[in-house]
Amino acid sequence: MDVKNWGTVMKIGIVGVAGRMGRMLAAEVLATEGADLCGGTEAPGSEFIGADLGTLAGRPETGEAVTADADALIKAVDVIIDFTVPVVTIAHAEIAAGHKTAMVIGTTGFDADQITELNAMGADTVIVHAANFSVGVNLLLGVTEQAASVLGIDYDIEIVEMHHRHKIDAPSGTALALGEAAAKGRNVDLDDVATRVRDGITGPRPPGNIGFATLRGGGVVGDHTVIFAADGERFELAHKAADRSVFAAGAVRAAIWAGSQAPGYYSMRDVLGFNG
Ligand code: NAD
Repeated sequence: MDVKNWGTVMKIGIVGVAGRMGRMLAAEVLATEGADLCGGTEAPGSEFIGADLGTLAGRPETGEAVTADADALIKAVDVIIDFTVPVVTIAHAEIAAGHKTAMVIGTTGFDADQITELNAMGADTVIVHAANFSVGVNLLLGVTEQAASVLGIDYDIEIVEMHHRHKIDAPSGTALALGEAAAKGRNVDLDDVATRVRDGITGPRPPGNIGFATLRGGGVVGDHTVIFAADGERFELAHKAADRSVFAAGAVRAAIWAGSQAPGYYSMRDVLGFNG
């Protein structure tokens, strides 16, 4: 059962449309056949309220202006795409669940309670949530899980990530997702084995731990490396995003996929068919 009875053109709205990702998403929807950019919102009081969506996306004017009315936009569209901040995304998801509007979520930095809330909203509508919408990273998640299960705990797992200087959460949502994948491969709970920061006299590395290291600087779009370090060898899996457009393309692909799904809480691995 589809969440809404869609026609041949998918009506898409973007909340946080003036953000770094919001603008890329708007450009991607405008360039996608069968997708119609029906509106975008920004935070109340934003200088971008009233701006033309096409201009923001670096495209010709669309005649559609940015508003602060998330409820009206979410009600009017088939699917909403949200790359904002956790507390705002949760509020939007509540509205989407109420209107049975599908939602694609790229926001990172949720706490465990917020993830539980999003899961619950999957009972009412389609929610696709991924910390990273690139095809390469979603493949990396599967390979990391497999490597962790094959290599065993003689191989210390360290996850290193680097992002641009504006990023506000750490470790990145993708690094944590890679940690979850490695923990799943070892049949352990990430919360029981994660070392998210190290400082001072830390003592030796506990066996079986999954460590994280966070680098920030410049305009780096997103680099992730998973290292499996044993006494005699080191095995590394790496992904480097060169352009945010890969995330936007994946999110719009997820938005179109959402149309044929029953209500539920899905990942990008579901969208790509990498989950079984
Ligand atoms: P950004 O700060 O440039 O954009 C966020 C936008 O949300 C801003 O324009 C802000 O004004 C807007 N916003 C805040 N409150 C709002 C409200 N109440 N209503 C409407 N808009 C509101 O950040 P960004 O670099 O675009 O990243 C956004 C999020 O996406 C982050 O959590 C980031 O980690 C994540 N991200 C995810 C992926 C992925 O593939 N899943 C890729 C890149 C970034």
